[in-house]
Amino acid sequence: MGLRRKKQAGGEPVSSAETGAPRGADWAVEMRGVRRRYGRGAGAVHALSGIDLALERGSFTAVMGPSGSGKSTFLQCAAGLDRPTEGTVRLGGTEITSMGENKLTELRRTRLGFVFQAFNLLPSLTVEQNVVLPMRLAGHRPDRRRAAELLRRVGLGADKNKRRPGELSGGQQQRVAIARALVTDPDVIFADEPTGALDTTTAAEILTLLRTAVDTMGATVVMVTHDPAAAAYADRVLFLADGVLVDRLTRASAAQIAARMTTLTDPAYATAAA
Ligand code: ADP
Repeated sequence: MGLRRKKQAGGEPVSSAETGAPRGADWAVEMRGVRRRYGRGAGAVHALSGIDLALERGSFTAVMGPSGSGKSTFLQCAAGLDRPTEGTVRLGGTEITSMGENKLTELRRTRLGFVFQAFNLLPSLTVEQNVVLPMRLAGHRPDRRRAAELLRRVGLGADKNKRRPGELSGGQQQRVAIARALVTDPDVIFADEPTGALDTTTAAEILTLLRTAVDTMGATVVMVTHDPAAAAYADRVLFLADGVLVDRLTRASAAQIAARMTTLTDPAYATAAA
């Protein structure tokens, strides 16, 4: 598929579904005509200018794009942390765009998982307490056996379960965050630069872990990253430019992804496409 920004600026759908898949199917994530504008009038910024996509359950999707292309806004709107100006977002078949704040908060706690660059663990809680926190916030009894099992699966020794996050390395903290994201068996895990604070070796371990969660635990992961090496772990890479999904690659190598990113950020390309 060529990079013809002019044609695609109208919001041509980029869907993970191969052609012929029915609309309204039970996608993990479905976005239709999603726009997000900041401000009004002449000074308005169109952070998202018409996003259409559908991501299957059990898939691993990376979202890439130059700085200012709308990656953060995309993630915030997809995860119900921000509301689109127009369009609809469905998570696990549930439309969240028209949901009240309380229901949305509950949905985020019970049906979504989050992994952030800065880990975002609560420092005063133990590793195990951090992992069961989403259960407690959702009003369920914390299942410590499930927490222990998940911590084992993410490769953290049982000796760490009673430690505080501050006693762990960055990579170990991110393992805890992934166990926490998995604990409610969510419809989608949203990951925002999950390896941004890690060295290359540790980053590879964390990405392998996310890949394993998708392949063996049926997790669905949507990851925003600027790193082609990280994006290469995904089944599919979606490229954002100026708030529009302009291209995608499937099962691509880091080199292929990096080459595509260069095209997107190359000023000569922007001029040629205008
Ligand atoms: P990225 O994550 O790819 O760097 P963002 O989603 O942060 O992109 O931003 C996309 C565009 O929206 C940018 O032009 C940015 O300046 C603008 N933007 C983001 N948040 C706000 C905001 N709260 N108010 C005004 N403009 C914003």
